[in-house]
Amino acid sequence: MSSASKIEISTELLRTLHRIHRQLTDLHSRIDRGPRQIKAGETLVAKATADVESARQAIKAAKVTSDEKQLQLATREARMKELQAKLNTAASNREFNTLKDQIAADEQANLVQSDEIFEALEQIDVLEKALAEAEAELKKQQSEHTVRVKEVESKQVILKDDLAGVEQQLAAYEAKIPAAVLGDYKRITSAKGEDALAPVDENSCGGCYQTLTTQHIETLRMSVLMRCPNCNAFLYFPENLSP
Ligand SMILES: [Zn+2]
Repeated sequence: MSSASKIEISTELLRTLHRIHRQLTDLHSRIDRGPRQIKAGETLVAKATADVESARQAIKAAKVTSDEKQLQLATREARMKELQAKLNTAASNREFNTLKDQIAADEQANLVQSDEIFEALEQIDVLEKALAEAEAELKKQQSEHTVRVKEVESKQVILKDDLAGVEQQLAAYEAKIPAAVLGDYKRITSAKGEDALAPVDENSCGGCYQTLTTQHIETLRMSVLMRCPNCNAFLYFPENLSP
């Protein structure tokens, strides 16, 4: 320890400063949480929106397929009618049989096609139910998000108000720090926040657990400024370890 070891500083002041820095850490982390909560909510709404869109696309695709199948069915039915008409005017047995075969093949194809259309329509029903569910989920997510944003915003107002109050307190207590150490204090607190101060915890630094010598402890007992030899924190006796 250099000349800094001779500076007297009140244990009570260090305790208070540490308490205030801890409050600041807590307030900052709660303030930072707000935008993250909103972002997470936006992700949920975006996912629900994408689910609705893909449900709509699935219905669209299923309808296109079903329409195509119905058109094929209708086309084949029209052709069958033409073939039926030709059947009556067939010039030969051979032509008659060929026409008969064609009609039979078309009939068979349309039977299969009808089943497929029925299945496609059933599938559209299922998809429409899924769409309704996705739309309900989107509505739920949107309204939950509106509530969330309002809650976060009003909480932010309170937290920022609290922060301003605690910062004011900090400034008032920092004014009591001996001038010779203020520069160091400012540097280390702006770099490490609440970890710039540490209570003595069973003869160790409460910040980094470095064991302190008897001489360190004795120096601290005299309210002389002591920095942790390892993490550089401003050490102080906590309430239950008062000198
Ligand atoms: Zn330490």
